[in-house]
Amino acid sequence: MTTLVRIEPRSADLGDGMLVRRTLPSRQQRMVGAWCFLDHAGPVDFPPGKGMHVGAHPHIGLQTFTWLIEGEVLHRDSLGNEQVIRPGQVNLMTAGQGIVHTEDSLHDGRRLHAAQLWIALPPEAESCPPAFANHPDLPQWQQEGARLTLLAGTHEGRTAPTRVHSPLLGLDIDSAAPASIDLALDPAFEYGLLPLVGEVGIGNERFPADEFAYLGPGRSSLRLDLAAGSKVLLLGGVPFAQPVVMWWNFVGSTRAGIAEAQRQWENGDARFGPVGDGSAPRLSPPPLPWRDY
Ligand code: MN
Repeated sequence: MTTLVRIEPRSADLGDGMLVRRTLPSRQQRMVGAWCFLDHAGPVDFPPGKGMHVGAHPHIGLQTFTWLIEGEVLHRDSLGNEQVIRPGQVNLMTAGQGIVHTEDSLHDGRRLHAAQLWIALPPEAESCPPAFANHPDLPQWQQEGARLTLLAGTHEGRTAPTRVHSPLLGLDIDSAAPASIDLALDPAFEYGLLPLVGEVGIGNERFPADEFAYLGPGRSSLRLDLAAGSKVLLLGGVPFAQPVVMWWNFVGSTRAGIAEAQRQWENGDARFGPVGDGSAPRLSPPPLPWRDY
């Protein structure tokens, strides 16, 4: 019998009243493969004049992975990219040695619904050059009454265009009617399942929206029972080989590397360039939580 762990979400405030439910990292499970961060934002209907506005902030050592369900968000970064992400698309930003970005609702007073994830880069890629890509065309197919969209990795002969650096899976499963689907799994992978809308059953266990199901390695298949109108996110990956340090918007293999990045951001070092004309507010990290850095 393989592991099945239920993980309750916790609330996090991204500022300005933008509340999200966070299920990775959690006390029970820090990562699923290289997936190391999972925020579920919305669905929220912003009042007139309000929206999501995240000021300029740096990242290192990770990829940010945005799966947009409803709304329109403008991404701008220090490489000069300006990209509106729309429903059904993934934005994949590879921070590597360092990047700065802002994220803003394209129009205030509208609806927003998204999953925001981070992927830890393995040590051999953590200092790679930064990059950004928008992916409007993802493999999509019908299976047993559900609509599946492959966001990352490979599944049953299909491969997503998103470029990742370790064996991973990201799969969106959406069904208007009740559906039971059988998925082929890789026994070498661990998996995590997050209902974004509705409810999913795994065996005798029911998982409502925002209750995360962690599945340990060793499964070659998984049967999911989706309630009508459900939308679930399936993540998978080979358990990450080495511990990952996460602090503020930084991921790395060492505390020293993260402390250096934080000092450079605070000192305006050229490692972290401006976004656009540099007029967006710059976010400040809390003091480093470790002695001796
Ligand atoms: Mn970010």
